[in-house]
Amino acid sequence: MDQTPAQPPLDLTVDAAALTAALVDFPSPSGQEKALADAIETALRALPHLTVDRHGNNVVARTHLGRAERVILAGHIDTVPIAGNVPSRLDEDGVLWGCGTCDMKSGVAVQLRIAQTVPEPNRDLTFVFYDNEEVAAHLNGLGHVADAHPDWLAGDFAVLLEPTDGQVEGGCQGTLRVHLKTTGERAHSARAWMGSNAIHAAAPILAKLAAYEPRTPVVDGLQYHEGLNAVGIEGGVATNVIPDACTVVVNFRYAPDRTPEEAEAFVRDYFADCGIDEFVVDDHTGGARPGLTHPSAQAFLAAVEAEARPKFGWTDVARFSALGVPAVNYSPGDPLLAHKVNERVKASLIPEAEAKLRAWLTS
Ligand SMILES: [Zn+2]
Repeated sequence: MDQTPAQPPLDLTVDAAALTAALVDFPSPSGQEKALADAIETALRALPHLTVDRHGNNVVARTHLGRAERVILAGHIDTVPIAGNVPSRLDEDGVLWGCGTCDMKSGVAVQLRIAQTVPEPNRDLTFVFYDNEEVAAHLNGLGHVADAHPDWLAGDFAVLLEPTDGQVEGGCQGTLRVHLKTTGERAHSARAWMGSNAIHAAAPILAKLAAYEPRTPVVDGLQYHEGLNAVGIEGGVATNVIPDACTVVVNFRYAPDRTPEEAEAFVRDYFADCGIDEFVVDDHTGGARPGLTHPSAQAFLAAVEAEARPKFGWTDVARFSALGVPAVNYSPGDPLLAHKVNERVKASLIPEAEAKLRAWLTS
């Protein structure tokens, strides 16, 4: 249930650091974003150059200037649970402390400031503010909008304002988890020759895993690093029984030049001669190409004066990629401080990021 107390309206005319503080003081842990979504919707509806749509606690605002390209600026408005770190606090060194300062209300503040201050961008703009990013994937608001209104997310290039320490992180690797099962026949371990040992039958799988050599392909100029690892193993009935079943859980992290189908085919093929009795796909989410060859992306890199680096973990850029929109992460927060009780951001970096984005969108 949403128990967020009533809050004052959001003032988008203050600078991005002050706006970040106001957003942090507007608590919105996952599942309690309604009041903040209301405030963002109200503030955006006051801007005549934007049309505003809403789906649940997700708000999408767009310009319609007929520009040749459309760029999406997206951010989640939820935070992890508050840990005594709200309201925000600005210290004498200019550091802003509080839940969400880094992940990712400083990014949301930059989005809102661009919405407020760039009525005639050189590329059409779509602003996406979504809920439930910090919880289970099926709750993710960006996913819900993508399912219900994919047209709201149409675009040529997307920037997610997730913390990257001012760097640009492009694309992300896909992740596939499979259960490789071997079977045998139970017998008393005193008469093992009467049965067949399913754990021993898993030995070829482990040997193949140990011998695996990762591929490190360059995709759109970024070097990725794949990984194929056992992340679990299960087998055994009792200490005096030859086990009849064994499962090796394998996680394949793969570069975004493979489609999910190709990734699965690779894993099936890699273990094809290992005597596996059952191959079960437990979980699978595709990666995302960084799309850095797109002219908009090149202009973006130049404007923010950053070099792109690959993202190895899975992020919401993959949701955009699935919609055919290349996407990167960029914002001033330090990702190593995300979700920490002492979460913080250097306040001056927030208007700096805003200025760089504005330069990109107005030059
Ligand atoms: Zn985040």
